[in-house]
Amino acid sequence: MTRIDLSDPAAIRRENAAWPWRIVFLAYAVLLVIATHWPGSGQPGEGLDSPDKLMHFLCFGGFALLLWMTGWFRRFWAASLIALAFTILAEATQSLLSVNREASGLDIAAGILGVMTASAWMSTFGTREHLIVRQQELRSRFILDELMGSPTNWILIGAAFGIPTVFVSLTIYLLAWNVAALSIGNIALTIGLATGAMIGAGMVLRLVAPYRERVERDHPCFDCGESLREVALDDLGNGTCPSCGHAVHASQWTTLSSSNASMQQLLNCDGPVGLVCLVFYLIIAVVIGPIALLMSGHAGLASAILYTGIGVSLAMIWQWRRTRRRTSLERSGEQCARCRADLTDIECIGGIGTCPNCRTEFARHATVEGDGDAAFDAVKND
Ligand SMILES: [Zn+2]
Ligand SMILES: [Zn+2]
Repeated sequence: MTRIDLSDPAAIRRENAAWPWRIVFLAYAVLLVIATHWPGSGQPGEGLDSPDKLMHFLCFGGFALLLWMTGWFRRFWAASLIALAFTILAEATQSLLSVNREASGLDIAAGILGVMTASAWMSTFGTREHLIVRQQELRSRFILDELMGSPTNWILIGAAFGIPTVFVSLTIYLLAWNVAALSIGNIALTIGLATGAMIGAGMVLRLVAPYRERVERDHPCFDCGESLREVALDDLGNGTCPSCGHAVHASQWTTLSSSNASMQQLLNCDGPVGLVCLVFYLIIAVVIGPIALLMSGHAGLASAILYTGIGVSLAMIWQWRRTRRRTSLERSGEQCARCRADLTDIECIGGIGTCPNCRTEFARHATVEGDGDAAFDAVKND
């Protein structure tokens, strides 16, 4: 658990930003306990394709993600371990505490897969120490905190995701059942979720626009939220927030472009063995695993495995993208992100410069010649 220092404005801002997540997490956890212990009907639907396993996957995965967002843990694996324990406990107590419900190994397996997938995503969060990279990544986090600080936004995003998900899933399920006597619970829920996720993402994009604009206008400190419009920055765009003392850089209020460093370079990091492992993982998690389970009559678990395969792969691609962006931003003052022109000799007043070739903006926070590391060490003091 993290401790808060009440004299530190940055800690107070983080604490305030965490509260909405904590309330939502606690309400979610209570609902999840009620839902998993609700008395069952006593008759397992024979021959019905119930999306029960998929629900376990999503609900416990969601539990892990929300627990991480509460900011109660410094390390993501601590939140993962607690979510795992909760998943096992919630299932194990079912047969003890409620009527007509049996603990099911397959339910636990689906829940654990959900927590694993959520953990793959949680492992990709976190920021770098390099000042320009850190500030670019903190800006996204700052905008997210501002967005989710409003209860209205929670309701709008929740409704934009939840209503289409339920409506589309039920419509498809009932239609298939009444017209063709087919029970396609997992497919119906998957299409419903995809629709809900798209409409929910559209809502987020709509709502986030004014918060982005406010960052460009008010020049806030991303650590404590204080406006830094009046704070003077040095020739290289470096400064210190007078309120919380964190380092700031002139480039943090604009989105810097990053180059498309080739996929080849990233794949080279793990070598050919890494690539082979990845391909094997994808084949097993997305093709062989689900098909094998489907053949043996475990349609629910097959969808949970498929979701895990896709979810973890997407987390890996996301991590690649971040690494590419970080590598490119770290070289921002030396090489143009777009045309790769050498920028070492290009003047950069106030920390932001423009490539003479293609007019792309770049940022520099320390002198490139020789002593860049000393200036870099001076700012990574938190
Ligand atoms: Zn500050
Ligand atoms: Zn250029």
